[in-house]
Amino acid sequence: MDTQKGLNLLENKRIAIVGGGPGGLTLALLLQRKGADVTVYERDYSPETRIQGAIVDLHADSGLKVIKAAGLLDAFKAAYMPGADKFRTLDQHANICVEEASQGTAADFEDEHFRPEIDRGALRNVLLNALSPDTVVWDSQLTSLEEVATTWHLTFKNGTTAVADLVIGADGYRSKIRPYLTDGKAVYSGATIIQGEIDHPEKDCPEIYKLVDKANLVAIGVGKSIAAQPRGDGGLTFYASSLYAEDWLKTSGIDFTNQDEVYAYLVDFYEGWNPVFYTLFKACNHFVPRPLTYFPLDQPWATQSTITLIGDAAHLMPPSGEGVNTAMLDALDLSECLTNSEFADLQTAIAAYEGQMRARAVILLAESLGGIKEFASPSEASVKELVPLYN
Ligand SMILES: Cc1cc2nc3c(=O)[nH]c(=O)nc-3n(C[C@H](O)[C@H](O)[C@H](O)COP(=O)(O)OP(=O)(O)OC[C@H]3O[C@@H](n4cnc5c(N)ncnc54)[C@H](O)[C@@H]3O)c2cc1C
Repeated sequence: MDTQKGLNLLENKRIAIVGGGPGGLTLALLLQRKGADVTVYERDYSPETRIQGAIVDLHADSGLKVIKAAGLLDAFKAAYMPGADKFRTLDQHANICVEEASQGTAADFEDEHFRPEIDRGALRNVLLNALSPDTVVWDSQLTSLEEVATTWHLTFKNGTTAVADLVIGADGYRSKIRPYLTDGKAVYSGATIIQGEIDHPEKDCPEIYKLVDKANLVAIGVGKSIAAQPRGDGGLTFYASSLYAEDWLKTSGIDFTNQDEVYAYLVDFYEGWNPVFYTLFKACNHFVPRPLTYFPLDQPWATQSTITLIGDAAHLMPPSGEGVNTAMLDALDLSECLTNSEFADLQTAIAAYEGQMRARAVILLAESLGGIKEFASPSEASVKELVPLYN
């Protein structure tokens, strides 16, 4: 046990982190480095369960800062995807109109504008490899939590149970921990994305694969967009986005498990677009519709002394490239507050963390709500600005 100043508040405390996403694993690592007794309970059956979703870029003042604070920069450098931070914007005719070159050399890690991309699974492995063995208990989907005297009793879907003195909900946008702090529900942002996964794009949609060229690609038309990103395993993830009514998933009548039905809908919706985009839809073997929601932050919950939230569980917002970064920053802030001996007790330490976390999230939420409308439904003015680079 590390006897350094700062561990006092956590002395003899069993800490349960529910959720082994980027937020939960980062927090576990940072607390473990201080000698705390921490266990992560994760719903996935095993570390091999593939994470849905493409690459994420880490930023100098958030995700990368945390990677450095955790002493993981070398491991990160070995795992990130050099060059994947390129951006390409296309018009609906598949003309490349904007091309932002990558800055990708190792030296750029000192550049505050460098945003290295990493596959979500690779980021998870970087964090997992740094944790003590058996920190994560897999196949542990929390179903309920009960406060018994000064402890929390956790029950999991597989029938197992655990006891903890401090519980941290890092279990994402459908958090099971959140209701123990607040009854604030998620609100629809107005934008919905249809996410698609293509496992073998080189073979199944070679033209679009070449257009993506291991970069972040966004194609925009008035009122709709398509974004595509490489995955670390050679696959491709795309997001077809627009603004829809809140009940559109029900009223559309589309069976999203039926590939032909979703394909027919998308071809119709993107009528007039270059057919190369239809090859993307055709090659897709897994569609997930995602109405994008957020937690309003105008009604803070009352701080408690033995339970709190980080990441999406605390401040879900539409994607703006900040979610993973912010979850990791929450983890850093919380770990620093919990191990800061200047705080008289856990409640004060958690209150200090929640204040920092909320102040940051309020700003990001406003930006994300503004950004998602333009991303999902580009304006006529934005589309008119596009000029093909190579015609
Ligand atoms: C389409 C889309 C694109 C995005 N793109 C980006 C991007 O480019 N960059 C970026 O920074 N962010 C992006 N985000 C946001 C980002 O994914 C999230 O903000 C981030 O993953 C939040 O991290 P987290 O650790 O809080 O939660 P999560 O990543 O959601 O992790 C939660 C973990 O908890 C586990 N879990 C859930 N319920 C339970 C339970 N009951 N018991 C036990 N375990 C449980 C889950 O299996 C998961 O491992 C995107 C989001 C979406 C929807």
